[in-house]
Amino acid sequence: MVEECELFECQQCGYCCHGETTVSLDSNDVERMVRYLKLHKQEVVDKYWRITGKVIQMKTIDGHCIFFENGCTIHSGKPWRCSQWPLHPSILNDESNFEAIKESCPGISRTLSYEHFCEKFSQFISENKK
Ligand code: SF4
Ligand code: SF4
Repeated sequence: MVEECELFECQQCGYCCHGETTVSLDSNDVERMVRYLKLHKQEVVDKYWRITGKVIQMKTIDGHCIFFENGCTIHSGKPWRCSQWPLHPSILNDESNFEAIKESCPGISRTLSYEHFCEKFSQFISENKK
């Protein structure tokens, strides 16, 4: 989840960590999570991951990510897609993506128009690239 800013203020609803599946992990996520958990990789595989072919996701328990407990419990060990949420660059391509993400995340600004949001979001992206 990104740091809070004018575009977004987390409401701690936990919606983004709920569901029967989770985001998938890329190779950097795999390394980061293993390092963070300070366990052997095989232990992490057995305890925390659901592997389907080449796709690695986190296990879910009672309809939420295994690492969710009143918020994310692995902070800097979480996958990059979780860190990026809800400010997904696809918002800039299409207003319907903006509306869909807004539907899933009550933390997205309700006061900025789509055009204004995109303007500020583009600025946010370039500032965070520096
Ligand atoms: S869905 Fe949005 S508001 Fe809710 S916990 Fe996730 S980031 Fe925060
Ligand atoms: S790793 Fe953390 S932020 Fe990502 S889905 Fe699991 S609990 Fe939520």
